[in-house]
Amino acid sequence: MATVTGATLMAQSLKQQGVDYMFGIVGFPVQGVAAEAQKAGITYIGMRNEQAASYAAHAAGYLTGRPQACLTVSGPGVIHAFPGLANAKENCWPMILIGGASPIYQNGMGAFQEERQVELAAPYCKYAHQIDQVERIPYYVEQAVRRSIYGRPGPVYLDFADNIIRAEYEEDDVVTYGRVPEPPRTQADPVAVEGALDVLESAERPLVVVGKGMAWSRAEEDVRQFIQRTQLPFLNSPMGKGVMPDDDSLSVGAARSTALREADVVFLMGARLNWIMHFGLPPRFNKDVRIIQLDINPEEIGTNVPAEVALVGDGKAVTKQLNTALDNRQWFYPQETEWRSTLQAKAAANVEAVQGMIDDDSSPMNYYRAYKDIDEWLPKDAIIIGEGANTMDIGRTQMLNSNARHRLDAGTYGTMGVGLGFAIAAAVSCPGQPIVSVQGDSAFGFSGMEIETIVRYKLPIKLIVLNNGGIGGGIGPLKDGQEVPPGILTYGAHYEGMIEALGGKGYYVEDPKDLRGVLDEAMAHDGPVLINIPLNPRAGRKPQQFGWLTT
Ligand code: ADP
Ligand code: MG
Repeated sequence: MATVTGATLMAQSLKQQGVDYMFGIVGFPVQGVAAEAQKAGITYIGMRNEQAASYAAHAAGYLTGRPQACLTVSGPGVIHAFPGLANAKENCWPMILIGGASPIYQNGMGAFQEERQVELAAPYCKYAHQIDQVERIPYYVEQAVRRSIYGRPGPVYLDFADNIIRAEYEEDDVVTYGRVPEPPRTQADPVAVEGALDVLESAERPLVVVGKGMAWSRAEEDVRQFIQRTQLPFLNSPMGKGVMPDDDSLSVGAARSTALREADVVFLMGARLNWIMHFGLPPRFNKDVRIIQLDINPEEIGTNVPAEVALVGDGKAVTKQLNTALDNRQWFYPQETEWRSTLQAKAAANVEAVQGMIDDDSSPMNYYRAYKDIDEWLPKDAIIIGEGANTMDIGRTQMLNSNARHRLDAGTYGTMGVGLGFAIAAAVSCPGQPIVSVQGDSAFGFSGMEIETIVRYKLPIKLIVLNNGGIGGGIGPLKDGQEVPPGILTYGAHYEGMIEALGGKGYYVEDPKDLRGVLDEAMAHDGPVLINIPLNPRAGRKPQQFGWLTT
């Protein structure tokens, strides 16, 4: 009778559960697992650091709707992948980390790379388990996949020891498990659905906040119908961007602070009142704000501000319920209100405040001038990755999204260094779509070596580095003998030379009048490109009414 190894069984179980991509680094004891994954039809991407591989796995999970895998060697390899688990947990995105482990029979003996991997992974995960017997691999994979996408999505960990990877089992005796169905689309209490609409009807200054929970639940069609039907002003969260198009006339993104501060009713759709939303508290929110909260996770309801109405359920299913309930109502939010005029005036003033920087053609460029050409050039269906301090913050307002799940950034955890892993995930799991990553020079540096991965797999990613020679701001060239300040990086560093050395195409663009031409050339080039744009080191943002991280 034929036998299968643990490695083969793992690969086949993953594939059967809809895990189509695996990002990782091979070595003891997982070499065979990657090879078997390829044989099973899983696309394997060998990366240069487990950290970037773990970022790629959860971005691919978010984009595809199934958890995708990260594969690491034992001990340090597993630990290098924890940033991806933590980031996935904070963002509520699925992924499955498969950590190689020293043989179980050597536990406690000081084995090569022996580590308490399950215990260490557990705080970052929804589910973490050791695979204790080769024949139970299909069982554990089913458990892990289901737990990562049912309810609030999140990361899971499976510990895969050397002796289990190499163990053999009679093929005919293997018990398999069916593919985990798509997550159930749970509905909210119908009384709450009517209650939510009653509260919205009673609002003078309503605001809808569309978060990435709606993007995850693929609710864009329903959310668009809801907003159109109710004519409610809305705000996209940083990665909720595109569920509603950023350029929709009902978007009040350009008047964000005013909208949040003065709204009397806020309807949170798959978004949390965490630091990004200033906790829903004064002075950034009205102290009497009334909250309607839609979330799949009942435990999230009431965080920081009690919810007047709780819509616990799947984003798409609940928005459908709202749309159906609206068929029995005449109401929509009127066209002419003081609230709309206030928001429009504020948005116009905010746009006006940066116009001077957008029009400033001096060299080196400022952020807004660079973004002017980038935004005009970006294809509508581009998946945009934005990362860095000012690079990301200004990019959120200056690069617009038309489609859901087309924006990836530092997210809920504020993680810097995710960009190249995310770009690789997008290019691999969304083939044929333009992938554009805009990073600050500091953000780029965290995983810069992954450009070798990008070139090796011929991923046609367009990387843009907005290079001001610093973490946040820069100061320009250092004087002779000057001690290097902590936040300063090499000014004018030629990062484009790195991609050239590895076989890609690079550009260094100093003069804004050359930028558009280079962007067009880059898009026409059928391969990876890095465009390095030195910025004026002192270029900044529009003056903000509230400092960064003010509550
Ligand atoms: P954002 O950063 O865009 O505001 P958050 O990550 O803070 O978004 O919040 C997303 C919320 O969406 C989380 O509280 C999560 O529980 C919720 N969520 C996840 N999946 C679904 C779903 N299918 N339906 C509704 N809500 C969901
Ligand atoms: Mg910088």
